[in-house]
Amino acid sequence: MDRVDLHVHTTASDGTMSPRDVTSLAAMLGLKAIAITDHDTMDGIPEAGEAGELLNVSIIPGIEISTDYQGKDVHVLGYFLESEHQKLRDYMDWVRRTRRERVEKILQRLQKKGFDISLEQLDKDHPGAVLGRPHIAGKLVELGAVDSVKEAFRRYLGEGRSCYVPRERIPFADASGLIRDCGGVSVLAHPLQYGFSKSELETLVKTAAAEKFTGIEILYTGYTQEDQKRLFDLAEQYGLLPTGGSDFHGTNKPENKLGEPVVPAYMLMMLARSQFM
Ligand code: AMP
Ligand code: FE
Ligand code: FE
Ligand code: ZN
Repeated sequence: MDRVDLHVHTTASDGTMSPRDVTSLAAMLGLKAIAITDHDTMDGIPEAGEAGELLNVSIIPGIEISTDYQGKDVHVLGYFLESEHQKLRDYMDWVRRTRRERVEKILQRLQKKGFDISLEQLDKDHPGAVLGRPHIAGKLVELGAVDSVKEAFRRYLGEGRSCYVPRERIPFADASGLIRDCGGVSVLAHPLQYGFSKSELETLVKTAAAEKFTGIEILYTGYTQEDQKRLFDLAEQYGLLPTGGSDFHGTNKPENKLGEPVVPAYMLMMLARSQFM
């Protein structure tokens, strides 16, 4: 059976492997296709695409958008978007700007705790990346302030921690429209990561269906067979396509392994078909 991975991050956002290296790894693992879904940017796609042509791995252009859903950070995956679309460019410019302002605020808070990290240094270490908390966490590890990225989140950067600053997000209701306007299809990312109860989850899935989402991620790192079954049933109930991916981030999220769980290629084929319906 041909395998794919529809949720992959690179150094264009908060992954630790370049688009080229991620594509090589995918080839080595025998994956037929991967979707590059960096947070709020599609900058990694051309490089991955070039590598993919050489290595015979199809690169699906994607993005992961953070939205505000009832005050929670719910992620929406977009696939097959035209990265040059003006609306997308405007969105990405806005995110890049507001994210930088937020990173500056976080760095100010860390400064008060005696950790000296500058925005210039982060830029230097991660050229062109859309900066976020994982980059700051990496620096804290490097400085010896914490032992791991995880600890950095637990002690300083996670929601509710002393250096946490929320970031600007578009409303959930706006995401699928933006993605559709740019020629893409929308998929609800990792539905079990939001801490929703059963009924809250069902409401979210129902809302996604009403917003003309195409799919829902049912295969994801750590989801048990029971989880998958539950999500599969919800997908069926609300007319959404089942999809899946690893949410690979390199060493920033060591549990998430490229190509795991196994995602059959038919899921990508169904998604691709839906684009024309
Ligand atoms: P940001 O976009 O700056 O808010 O950072 C969010 C990103 O940080 C997520 O996409 C994850 O990649 C990462 N992240 C969030 N929580 C944790 C955690 N507890 N440990 C490691 N990485 C995390
Ligand atoms: Fe991430
Ligand atoms: Fe996500
Ligand atoms: Zn992701």
